[in-house]
Amino acid sequence: MLVSPHRTNRPWQGEISTLPSEQRHSYEPDCYLCPGNKRANGEINPPYTSTFVFTNDYSALLEDVPSSKIIENKLLLIKVESGICRVVNFSPRHDLTLAELQESEIGHVIAAWQEEFRSLGSHPAINYVQIFENKGSLMGNSNPHPHGQVWAQESIPNEPLKELKQFKLYYAKKKHSLLLDYLKLELRLKERIVYENESFAVVVPFWAIWPFETMIVSKRRISSILELKEKDKKDFANALSILTIKYDNLFKISFPYSAGLHQAPTDGKNHPEWHFHMHFYPPLLRSASIKKFMVGYELLAEPQRDITPEYSANVLRDLPIVHYKNIQ
Ligand SMILES: [Zn+2]
Ligand SMILES: [Zn+2]
Repeated sequence: MLVSPHRTNRPWQGEISTLPSEQRHSYEPDCYLCPGNKRANGEINPPYTSTFVFTNDYSALLEDVPSSKIIENKLLLIKVESGICRVVNFSPRHDLTLAELQESEIGHVIAAWQEEFRSLGSHPAINYVQIFENKGSLMGNSNPHPHGQVWAQESIPNEPLKELKQFKLYYAKKKHSLLLDYLKLELRLKERIVYENESFAVVVPFWAIWPFETMIVSKRRISSILELKEKDKKDFANALSILTIKYDNLFKISFPYSAGLHQAPTDGKNHPEWHFHMHFYPPLLRSASIKKFMVGYELLAEPQRDITPEYSANVLRDLPIVHYKNIQ
């Protein structure tokens, strides 16, 4: 990782992305996620009032494919992957996002995530469940209705697999969680901590690649969302609310990001090494319209960032915890 804070002063003549319109109605007749509307497969959404979960009409993973079939051709290996893709609507309101939901409403989203993780993860053929949200058109999200996805599959994908290996190595040596020890260090230094409550901390990781990348980490080592107690759940909703509000307040826009939970594999084994956390990867750098590109040196050599993680943490920490739309 290369950090070059002096580069933020360089003249910018690049892309000014047009800002997504903030004009949104609470109900949109053409939205396939709004209550009572028809989806692509002809099904009608129920008149839901809280969260609503359904199987994706255009799933990237399919359930009924020949399981574990491996095709080998000298250097190339193809494995048939089976899985299930689900959509989680966070709210019936078309015009809101996590940042504008009440903490109690975010609590319902967490409950829906728990239910999906429990039911999909208990399927014998499902060994990993990825819960995530792509927010904003900058992240390729075509529908602004607040929603996330759940992809459940047979094999453990690359990113969690890399973490699993490191968590295991550390646990084998020290008999405790790598992320817990890391969090203790951050909580002592306080340089990269954005926010904390009793059960969770929000930190700009030491290794952050994206300018305003953060992680929500549980202060107690748990393997998955299923181990959250009532108080933890409230604190998780609180951390999610505060972080997304601060993000929106940063450039006074609905802040785009990809975010997702990293939880232990659902392979039927115990995972005392795994530590529940959530990543936020936002693309914006210096304003609502200037985004960070992962190109050139980043693609070919290593990640590089123009602002230090300590600076980002400082900026986010100082932002108000009341959404800018609610500040008179
Ligand atoms: Zn909608
Ligand atoms: Zn992770």
